[in-house]
Amino acid sequence: MYISLARKYRPKTFADVAVQSHVSNTLKGAIARGRVAHGYLMCGPRGVGKTTLARVLAMALNCERRSEGAGKDGEPCGECLSCTRIWSGSASLDVVEIDAASNRGVDDARDLRERAMYSPSSDDRYKVYIVDEAHMLTREAWNALLKILEEPPPRVVFVFATTEPQKIAQAAAPVLSRLQRFDFKRIGAADVRMRLAAVLLAEKLDADDDALTMLSRAADGSMRDALSLTDQVLAQGDGRITAERVRDALGLVAEDEYIGMLDIIADRRAGDVFTNVARLADAGVDLGSFISGLADMIRAALALQLGGTAPDLSTHARRLLQERQTRLNAGDLLRMLTAIGELEPRFRRSAQQQLLLETLLVRFALLDRTVSLEAVLQGITAGSHGAAQPSAPAALPPVDRAPELPSSSFIDASRAVGDPPGVEIAKVQASPPTPIELNNVVERWGDVLSQLTTSGRSMLATALERSLPVAVSRQGLVTIELDPPNEFNEKAVAAGSREILAAISTIFSGATRVVVKAAVKVRPEPIAAPKRLTEEAVKVERLAGLRKRDPTLSAAIDALDLELLD
Ligand SMILES: [Zn+2]
Repeated sequence: MYISLARKYRPKTFADVAVQSHVSNTLKGAIARGRVAHGYLMCGPRGVGKTTLARVLAMALNCERRSEGAGKDGEPCGECLSCTRIWSGSASLDVVEIDAASNRGVDDARDLRERAMYSPSSDDRYKVYIVDEAHMLTREAWNALLKILEEPPPRVVFVFATTEPQKIAQAAAPVLSRLQRFDFKRIGAADVRMRLAAVLLAEKLDADDDALTMLSRAADGSMRDALSLTDQVLAQGDGRITAERVRDALGLVAEDEYIGMLDIIADRRAGDVFTNVARLADAGVDLGSFISGLADMIRAALALQLGGTAPDLSTHARRLLQERQTRLNAGDLLRMLTAIGELEPRFRRSAQQQLLLETLLVRFALLDRTVSLEAVLQGITAGSHGAAQPSAPAALPPVDRAPELPSSSFIDASRAVGDPPGVEIAKVQASPPTPIELNNVVERWGDVLSQLTTSGRSMLATALERSLPVAVSRQGLVTIELDPPNEFNEKAVAAGSREILAAISTIFSGATRVVVKAAVKVRPEPIAAPKRLTEEAVKVERLAGLRKRDPTLSAAIDALDLELLD
């Protein structure tokens, strides 16, 4: 008979419990010294060994070989009848496992209380109640338990396991104060991997490095899951465990898919998002898993970008990400991660996952790239000949790399950068431009800024957020006033006057020059505002400006709480 790995390798002693030595050592010591508490609270994420440790505790308390000296160190023997029964979860007079998720009512609490009154089956044994998902217990149930814990019967131990201790704190603070609390650590992918490798070695099973990595990553901090997932792979056939087998068995998305999506984003091929997502959906990929997988890949890319190691990354993916280091930017990656993090809880519940995913990815592909303030300043003050952002770390794809952008105006506009405005205008603007006039310019100022953004001068557009044309001369001289006066913006805008003129000329005919002046100060400003404040102000302005120009984006900012990272 095949015994599942998850079962076969479930720890039988305190020493076997991976990672949680801070808990197991304390419990072992308490048993060895005969100082076991009446109530324990085991807190931590699922699959990290809470119930397992509770069982080992029950085994140690009731081990038949304790009197023989086997348990002097507090460890159960793991082999006697009592140990075996408790370990396997089969019926035991003295160890009662209760799933609070299914036994919530006050009746069960009374039942529990009555049962607790019964002593253990014999003098040398302990009655152990293991209450799983304890946060699901009702207030009434906790009240009943409080009465027991206030005057605990001898040789009765309660172990509460929960993933959400804060709920217990709300519902049953007085009980909490009578429990000894242990916080279990999440098992890191590296620890899971190490232990999994040991298990496979003991089982004489061969596995590829990448397969191990995929399994430990899919286990998401749970040793139990790692072993069950491995069982799942083994159930599909014998032989070496390869990355491909793991992927097939677990329905994982190939790493290349995530990398491919990052390429689409970096290349700003927004149109390809739809075909790619549709293909995944058609292939039956769970889009929720896809989005988590993509987040993992972005996290790994970010770690590499920042000089970290990304230990749970496969060799294959590591190589691919390293090849793309210059094209991905830490700020952008961080911004994407934040956006995914904000979306994920909603995503799981949504009936429109494909749409949500597409929208998110298209935004990633189209959003302005993060550029440091210094780079913005450099890029803009470099003047009209200094290409878009010469030293920006933004890893913008070269213009000729983005021929598949969805809208033709994007292509033309992006090529217009650095070209004589007149030549490209004809392509972008089919209808004859309106003659320039102050009222018209004011009215369509937002369009001018949008035009700047689409032609790749979004930083300039941002600097112009709080500006307005105040005069248009007969000769076509457009005067723009900046409000509030801001030296940084003023410089930037003045340096970009040629581009502003080009943008104006896509909509109006007859503009010849652009001059920029600061608005007259109404209120005196602090003379030396700290730099930090100024940066903050610029950020706020940029965000406000983005919202003003693009209602869709504004909604996205609200929904995703996007922050501009500088
Ligand atoms: Zn035993």
